[in-house]
Amino acid sequence: MAGLWFTEKQTENFGITMKVKRTLHTEKTDFQYLEMVETEEWGNMLLLDGMVMTTQRDEFVYHEMVAHVPLFTHPNPENVLVVGGGDGGVIREVLKHPNVKKATLVDIDGKVIEYSKKYLPEIASGLEDERVEVKVDDGFMHIAQSENEYDVIMVDSTEPVGPAVNLFTKGFYAGISKALKEDGIFVAQTDNPWFKADLIRKVQKDVKEIFPITRLYLANIPTYPSGLWSFTIGSKKYDPLAVPDEQFLDIETKYYTKEIHKAAFVLPKFVQDLTK
Ligand code: SAM
Repeated sequence: MAGLWFTEKQTENFGITMKVKRTLHTEKTDFQYLEMVETEEWGNMLLLDGMVMTTQRDEFVYHEMVAHVPLFTHPNPENVLVVGGGDGGVIREVLKHPNVKKATLVDIDGKVIEYSKKYLPEIASGLEDERVEVKVDDGFMHIAQSENEYDVIMVDSTEPVGPAVNLFTKGFYAGISKALKEDGIFVAQTDNPWFKADLIRKVQKDVKEIFPITRLYLANIPTYPSGLWSFTIGSKKYDPLAVPDEQFLDIETKYYTKEIHKAAFVLPKFVQDLTK
């Protein structure tokens, strides 16, 4: 693909295009079409089924916002689960929290883990940590077999198609509630309000019927569809908007701050309407 333009069609009539220096690896895995390419301006980039998963240049936004919002909301997150997240970026951020004693990653596709370690080493850097257990398995099955185990669960999955289709269902969220301890918190990436408003509306409705505290927050991710990304958080006890100041530890980040944590929940009117 060298010297060519990679285009992701984000809707039938709209997309993102970026110049590619060279293709590093392509493979049809058991679950999806994996591409790793070097781009002119965004570093190495992981694509799955033609969709941008992560780039070396803007990955920190997504990975910090998936990890630090729930982990600072929970007063003592010791046991954490990441469903999906085979590039390792969320795990890298989880490990910045000293309370975390164990972080389990369950990704259905071992090839994502393998090639992220090879071509995205600074993103996958935490996967070898002694606190981390990596499992190649279906996250839906893992959740179904878990009970009263985790303080925080993060769902860092692909879109609700292919292997991830079950990870956006009410049954999955009910399973997450069962897998969490009685004061547990979960967060899931829930795509963008410009093109996937119906998905966000449905997930918010489903999660509200299961968790007493349900909120939506946003972040700017330039290489994701529309550039505006949403995250749905469901909490059994702790409100992400009521975190005591002393609970925000000083950790190294490039996007997340205590102020961003609070501001991310301030939604434009058209997004607020999706949460009603
Ligand atoms: N940040 C990206 C996004 O928001 O689209 C997701 C990146 S991460 C690489 C997505 C991961 O979800 C992939 O590695 C894929 O293999 C994994 N995945 C998809 N379905 C899964 C399932 N049922 N169980 C576990 N992992 C799954």
